[in-house]
Amino acid sequence: MIQQEIPYKIFLTEEELPKQWHNLRAFMKEKPAPFLNPVTKQPATRQELEQVFCKELVDQELNVTDKYIDIPQEIRDFYKMFRPTPVVRAYNLERALGTPAKIYYKFEGQNTSGSHKLNSAAAQVYYAKKQGLTSLTTETGAGQWGTALSMACAFYGLDLTVYMVKVSAQQKPHRKALIETYGGTVIPSPSDTTHVGRKILAENPGTGGSLGCAISEAVETATQTENCRYVLGSVLNHVALHQTIIGMETKAALDKYNIQPDIVIACAGGGSNLAGMISPFMGDRLEGKNNIQFIAVEPASCPTLTRGKFAYDFGDTGKMTPLMQMYTLGSGFMPSASHSGGLRYHGMSPIISKLYHDGYMEARSVEQTKVFEAAVTFARSEGTLPAPESSHAIRVAIDEALKCKETGEEKTILFALSGTGYFDMTAYSAYLDGTMGDFIPTEEDLQKGFASLPDV
Ligand SMILES: *Cc1c(COP(=O)(O)O)cnc(C)c1O
Repeated sequence: MIQQEIPYKIFLTEEELPKQWHNLRAFMKEKPAPFLNPVTKQPATRQELEQVFCKELVDQELNVTDKYIDIPQEIRDFYKMFRPTPVVRAYNLERALGTPAKIYYKFEGQNTSGSHKLNSAAAQVYYAKKQGLTSLTTETGAGQWGTALSMACAFYGLDLTVYMVKVSAQQKPHRKALIETYGGTVIPSPSDTTHVGRKILAENPGTGGSLGCAISEAVETATQTENCRYVLGSVLNHVALHQTIIGMETKAALDKYNIQPDIVIACAGGGSNLAGMISPFMGDRLEGKNNIQFIAVEPASCPTLTRGKFAYDFGDTGKMTPLMQMYTLGSGFMPSASHSGGLRYHGMSPIISKLYHDGYMEARSVEQTKVFEAAVTFARSEGTLPAPESSHAIRVAIDEALKCKETGEEKTILFALSGTGYFDMTAYSAYLDGTMGDFIPTEEDLQKGFASLPDV
């Protein structure tokens, strides 16, 4: 055995766990544009936002000045059940690729919900409980967010209704059972339990649903139920904030060994694990302390950053949310069915959108079969079975490592492994038996989505 200077897994002790989240917007000279009220087109007021979201989450949503925000002790106690997560030096993958690059990944899939989403679920349910709410509604695509929220609701004792994208509910019956095990109620969306659901079903009877449409149903139910609020698992600024626990832990672990990444990579659905991973590194970059290359990776079937427009748009298909300035394919864009449910979203975190628009980061889109090729390479060398979403990041990490093999550069590559693939075996089977296809929207498909953009 060769003496390895850097351990295979770098852990933090309980005392070393971060006590604060990193508020990236406070580091940005140019801030993301404010949310707009869709009717008046004026900046959304605190009162309007508080009708939909918890008060303290609205405070976080609007906070662009405090660089760090304390994590309440109660949330840190919850985090201790599944954190710290390890930073792993991918020695085995490096060897399999024959690359001189040094590859590190932060693995967020070691909790029962299987992804990073528990980081924000724990925080959001805590604040809801503190405010005296009794129930929550949400949407879920692939099921990770619904599971995470159900776990947090069980812990804090709140009721939960989950509108689950219909195709996902059918493809993943075990996800549904898992949410129900923790006490959540699952309703496949679109459903006949809401006005917006009935309207979408009437216009599009055979639809398998989408995240945007499930969001509309969850928002409608929240606004019509007493002591109930809607919670969202991605895109919003407060969700990105909670996810910075990923980057804060990663940076603390790498700092122990004086490791500086040259490239930081994460997959991007609504942008929360990406924002969470890059925040402290990007904060330093914005202060001129590093020159890291940041790469967002998205599916070619839902190319929000690489082919979308930077515009004000709704966060949902039912056009009920405030308008956000972001990269978007249009809230009317219906992504084709793919095996990365968590990345099938028309919009993108306003923070990520702004940074990308201002040239601080890159974006790449990758095809599904190439993603699974990387997933299988990773599983066979590192052992861990990656989620299809996370495997988008693996694809680009491998591509960058192979470039180093050609040039001989010893770059340090860091990526976020956002979740585990245990519930995605149908997708793995499709790849392994050769029936998996690649869907790339045509210009015409994209134009249909853009036509749904509101006039601002
Ligand atoms: C939900 C999810 C994503 C995508 O969401 P982001 O907000 O872009 O992070 C990525 N990976 C996994 C495993 C997920 O569950």
